[in-house]
Amino acid sequence: MHDVDCSSLEGKRAISDVFEILEFVAVVGTTNTFVLQELDETGKPLPNIFQQDATGNLKAGRYMIQPVEKGAEVYRRLVTTFAVAGGKQTDEYWKPEKKPEEAKLSDTESVSSTVSERGDDPRGFKMRLVHRDKGCVVCHAMGTDSIYRYRDDSSFFEGSHIFPFAMQSLWSARKYGNLITDPFTAPSVENAARNKQDPLRINSLENGMLLCLFHHKAYETLRFSIHHTTHRIFAFHPAVAHLHGLEVTSPWKVTSAIYPAPHKELLKAHYQTAPDSTYPQRSHQDLG
Ligand SMILES: [Zn+2]
Repeated sequence: MHDVDCSSLEGKRAISDVFEILEFVAVVGTTNTFVLQELDETGKPLPNIFQQDATGNLKAGRYMIQPVEKGAEVYRRLVTTFAVAGGKQTDEYWKPEKKPEEAKLSDTESVSSTVSERGDDPRGFKMRLVHRDKGCVVCHAMGTDSIYRYRDDSSFFEGSHIFPFAMQSLWSARKYGNLITDPFTAPSVENAARNKQDPLRINSLENGMLLCLFHHKAYETLRFSIHHTTHRIFAFHPAVAHLHGLEVTSPWKVTSAIYPAPHKELLKAHYQTAPDSTYPQRSHQDLG
């Protein structure tokens, strides 16, 4: 039985939103087409069946994924994410295979990157994001005036990584560096200092967005994510429910090879991680 608990933001989840998440986490037959059938408390199927294109919201309860294809199997998609749940790394893949000395080296790198990120080096990660995004991209989506104008605005904005800087081994394993075109992180004599600090090019504009402190924290803790093709915000946490459905546009307004927009594979990696870490894996108890 493949039942799904719909619990967070009870009764406020559009049916299409629930399908959007399930497409990330489930593999259904060969075509991935399915409907949701409501179950009662004992797990017995009820007559209520929801199609993918149905309008309206899904109420809290238990639902079963019913394949449209006859005899199709339902699998949970094996997604390698960077989620850290309950202080434990849930991801087998990137578990440190490093020796302690090497781990220490990357800690140092991470610290020095944070320093340069917060600085106002005009060619650094943050200030180039300021140029591209102008202010917090989520505040902009909300219609709030949040523009970086003055030097002392700096402490209100942060250059935020889409794929976390700390997850360097997963970044390497997935060869994300090959996606990067940002000329300011390209290997060159001119970029030598930056190359040394960030050889994997994680501090590239394709892996960044300018966010205010609050939205940075909420993005980093996966309370919301930004869909890689629609650029719409998906709220995974009730505290940011007001952001749900807003479209982020600022990073895509400047179309220039010097200021590349966020890369869709990196947005997708963040998005795939969010449901995994937000929704606890439970199969018996509903949150109600
Ligand atoms: Zn903001």
